[in-house]
Amino acid sequence: MNVDRERWVTRVEETLRRSGHHRSSARPAVVRALAEAAAPLTVLELETRIRLVGRVGRASIYHALELLCRHALAYRLDCGDGQARYLAAHADGPVRHYLACGRCGAMVELATARLDRAIGREADRLGVAIDARPLVLHGVCAQCRPVHPAR
Ligand SMILES: [Zn+2]
Repeated sequence: MNVDRERWVTRVEETLRRSGHHRSSARPAVVRALAEAAAPLTVLELETRIRLVGRVGRASIYHALELLCRHALAYRLDCGDGQARYLAAHADGPVRHYLACGRCGAMVELATARLDRAIGREADRLGVAIDARPLVLHGVCAQCRPVHPAR
């Protein structure tokens, strides 16, 4: 696990301990699985990864995820397919944005530095504050996209 992810794991434990939350048996497993994930995960995907290590009930996984989201330590993404996906809220670096494939459910990370800057300028223009949160754009991934005729 890289330094950024290790730091997030430490921040999660410190934040929750300071807020008086006792360490549940499920939480470390959920935190570790989220920290190691390359892309946002559904509860089912999280459960599968955690099951490889030990038995943790689904209710405990939901409880841990709800706690992380409530403390802004993780994001819950609505991907339009009725299944929420969860992502660690790393403090370092820009927030990642994704394309959710409507066919296979893949989450493709987008390079969106210019989009972030445009959103920042628009916030300045309107005098509003926009939370830095992952955006989910909808479409189809490169694998699912039908081959289009040569131009
Ligand atoms: Zn796809």
